[in-house]
Amino acid sequence: PFAPSSWMQPTASAPTRLPRIVGADAPVPLEDGRHVPYANFDYAASAPCLEAVHDAVTRALPYYSSVHRGAGYASQATTAAYERARETVRSFIGAWERASVVFTRNTTDAMNLLAHALPPRTTVVVFETEHHATLLPWRRAVRLPAPASPAGAVAAADRALAAAPQGPRVLVVTAASNVTGELWPVAELAEAARRRGARIAVDAAQLVPHRPLDMTALGLDYVAFSGHKLYAPFGAGVLAGRADWLRAADPYLKGGGATVSVGERTRWAADPQQRHEAGTPNVLGVVALAAACETLAAAGWDALVAEEERLLARLRQGLARVPAVRQLSLWGERHPRVGIVSFTVDGWNARDVALRLSGEYGIGVRDGKFCAHPFVRHLLADRPDAPRAAGAGGCADASAPASAVRASLGLGTTDEHVDRLVDALSAIGAVC
Ligand code: PLP
Repeated sequence: PFAPSSWMQPTASAPTRLPRIVGADAPVPLEDGRHVPYANFDYAASAPCLEAVHDAVTRALPYYSSVHRGAGYASQATTAAYERARETVRSFIGAWERASVVFTRNTTDAMNLLAHALPPRTTVVVFETEHHATLLPWRRAVRLPAPASPAGAVAAADRALAAAPQGPRVLVVTAASNVTGELWPVAELAEAARRRGARIAVDAAQLVPHRPLDMTALGLDYVAFSGHKLYAPFGAGVLAGRADWLRAADPYLKGGGATVSVGERTRWAADPQQRHEAGTPNVLGVVALAAACETLAAAGWDALVAEEERLLARLRQGLARVPAVRQLSLWGERHPRVGIVSFTVDGWNARDVALRLSGEYGIGVRDGKFCAHPFVRHLLADRPDAPRAAGAGGCADASAPASAVRASLGLGTTDEHVDRLVDALSAIGAVC
């Protein structure tokens, strides 16, 4: 009865229905002892699992085994599923046929693998607006300040690539900001990199849950993302892209699976997908990630994007009606973005807002600087009304570091969640 191919079949989403998440509306306790359905606005940190992903993992569980080693049925089936997952990912991101698709732990791991594989004297050009995973791993980096416009981003990248010292050059950039949700002009940046003989690596962690990606059409050299932001559980991510530097680099981890033979000398596998995946891989994480890719693709991006834009507009219009709430954006309110909104609440410290939303309303948001300290500092710097720390009553006193609240949307978000968040912020914002 067991057909390995069934692992990869999405089951839960009929074409007319958006994919469903596990545990939507699970009850959470409030401070007063009541329970309400959870309103999760923290998808950008980690998205809950899709039902179809849950089903795929449940089908895989009785058969999972170590890949690439055994002749037993389970090992063969697991290897087949693992390699099929690689092809699913390849097609999900539009990677060209000979691109390497290396499974990593997450985006951070993928960017560090790329940094490890860069040839000596490679200069990386990166904007300060990046998530730390994409800002920090590089040995020789030129850091560019937050650009004032998308065209300014392209011009600044172009100038920096032209001025970079001799040697390989890589432009590293996000496709969708984890702070503002704003979409970056990736096609134009790829074109600028190509003109300058440089490569481009794209952090797609916040893009792939919300928009289709076509690496080939965009001309991207590398793409990194995480399964846990794509409605799969933790621990599996991807670095996809050109094989040559990955093939030439020392194995990222040294150990079983990365070798062809070990004797007096060790011969490392040339194929990056082997060379940089030493040790027993996270098979279930990879099966889950691939099931998420298949489910989103099968649901159809038009439907997914339309529903997200509807909810995002409802949220942003609602927040605009709350006088104390100020939404953050780099390129203005009208710039296109995925379902992520960061904001401050006048007179309130972000942590206190997040705690009240949770304890009194059953709403989960993120607060802080979202692992993008330079960017959040930049966004808050010229705000005369930057939020300050809450004193005993919740209202501001003058001293604490500025931070923001982030509400991010996903497949479990409903109108009721959005309205509850807006109403709660109206009540909180009216206090100070
Ligand atoms: N890049 C972006 C844009 C992100 O939003 C995140 C996570 O928040 C990361 C990279 C890092 O992802 P991970 O923690 O899965 O490595």
